[in-house]
Amino acid sequence: MPVRRFLRHLALRVAATLCKDCGPKIVYYHDMGREYTAMGTDVDLIKAHVEAARRDGFHFVDSIAYLREPRSVHICFDDGFRGIWDHAEWFVSERLHPTVFIPVGLMGQQGYLTWSEVLELQRLGFHFEGHTWSHRPLTDVPGAEWQHELRDAKCYLEDKLGHEVDSLCFPCGFFSDDVIAAAREAGYHYLVASYPGCVKEDETLIPRHLVQSFSVADYRLVLQGALVPFRARYIRQHRKA
Ligand SMILES: [Zn+2]
Repeated sequence: MPVRRFLRHLALRVAATLCKDCGPKIVYYHDMGREYTAMGTDVDLIKAHVEAARRDGFHFVDSIAYLREPRSVHICFDDGFRGIWDHAEWFVSERLHPTVFIPVGLMGQQGYLTWSEVLELQRLGFHFEGHTWSHRPLTDVPGAEWQHELRDAKCYLEDKLGHEVDSLCFPCGFFSDDVIAAAREAGYHYLVASYPGCVKEDETLIPRHLVQSFSVADYRLVLQGALVPFRARYIRQHRKA
């Protein structure tokens, strides 16, 4: 095991021991397999994550709104890459219904889902939610363009899916107080961040755990709360003035 991975494993093991918290959690990836993006995760590793979680007594719920009980977990994929389409059958056979956050302006481009694939996955139980129009970090986009990135993208996605879209995931996880206010004004109810934590009803942003590069052993520790003590560091990385 390379030194960095070993140190990470050690830190997670200590954190999980000292701060164990099996509260409801979101885990997220970018794709099944590495064919369409370098951010993808080996298919066998994702399958091993799911198997290990179930063996440890965790259960996967169908939507963010159902994350209430301890040991409940919801899976998300960001950006809408096509690996999830190639492996849709596996999700169905495992009764897994992930949420996929999609930047509407990128759909249909090389490596991304087409709209007909999005609709077929929706029919199979996948949820699709907002990830802006262009996927530029909102903290880098001039305020005058937020209307297009937030409200126009929401309307466009609702029109394609045929129902209301109420969740937004910030591209690259970056946010600010102004971005939060603009997202609320555009009509998003659930604002999804990229820092770790258990899902609680009274928080402004919904935390998530990026597990795409985690071994099965580290993933098991994350479900036990091993990343939660590092939350402040993640927030410092993603919160802009
Ligand atoms: Zn993204």
